[in-house]
Amino acid sequence: MALVAAGFLGHGSPMNALEHNRYTEAWRAFGASVRAPRAILVVSAHWYINASAVTAMPAPRTIHDFYGFPDELFAVDYPAPGDPALAQEIADVVAPTWIGLDADSWGIDHGTWSVLVHAFPDATIPVLQLSINATKSFEDHLALGAQLAPLRERGVLILGSGNVVHNLRRVDWAQPDAAFDWTRRFDEHVVELMATRPEDLPGVTVHPDYAMAVPTPDHFIPLLYLAGLAAAAGEPAASFAEGYAMGSLSMTCYSLGVTTPSADAAEGAPALPHHPADETNV
Ligand code: ZN
Repeated sequence: MALVAAGFLGHGSPMNALEHNRYTEAWRAFGASVRAPRAILVVSAHWYINASAVTAMPAPRTIHDFYGFPDELFAVDYPAPGDPALAQEIADVVAPTWIGLDADSWGIDHGTWSVLVHAFPDATIPVLQLSINATKSFEDHLALGAQLAPLRERGVLILGSGNVVHNLRRVDWAQPDAAFDWTRRFDEHVVELMATRPEDLPGVTVHPDYAMAVPTPDHFIPLLYLAGLAAAAGEPAASFAEGYAMGSLSMTCYSLGVTTPSADAAEGAPALPHHPADETNV
């Protein structure tokens, strides 16, 4: 089987699950460019715990892990199956690094389903989530990403879902599509790193705008998995769907092993009006 692509999707507000805008269109195009993976493994910002785990239930539940959003969003169901055998295979691939099998605590959180409802709307492909172990360093996450590389040869699409810049305290509702200077500087620096030296991504903590851009690491860490995969493949990861929301969020997405997913797969798609991501996020 040919090497399956990998990616990082800037998910922004949960409301993106219900909207159609240039980001959701880019996710759709990305999904269309990855033809029928065997399964999808997602590292979501929203499963940030003190342990390494992979979901291993046959039918993961859709988790609505937010508050203050419309009922319509709580009604979203993403009924993709799990794949317990693949969960064991993932644990084996990364050994001796330990990953526990989660039989019943998690499922599919909104970091995952808010993008997959667009990228893989049929929900027929098995979906697994890998937790972010909060006790590990950026170098550890990069290394674990690289350890997952053999799964790409086995038909597994590996996705990170987060936001490179994610500072909810600085959200400016008056600027739905704009970026603060520090947001733009940091995001552009990361784009350059991913395109040239993805293995150096853990060193981004010394960037002068890091503290403002990444006040908590949960939304940034999923990109370290793609950086590890890129380093393992000896290929850079290209950005697509670059953009910003409310000053302090970057929506930039990345792909590995796909050439211009939006240009390729979006061909023939109807032109959609641009609705900015207009809500904040948990
Ligand atoms: Zn989020």
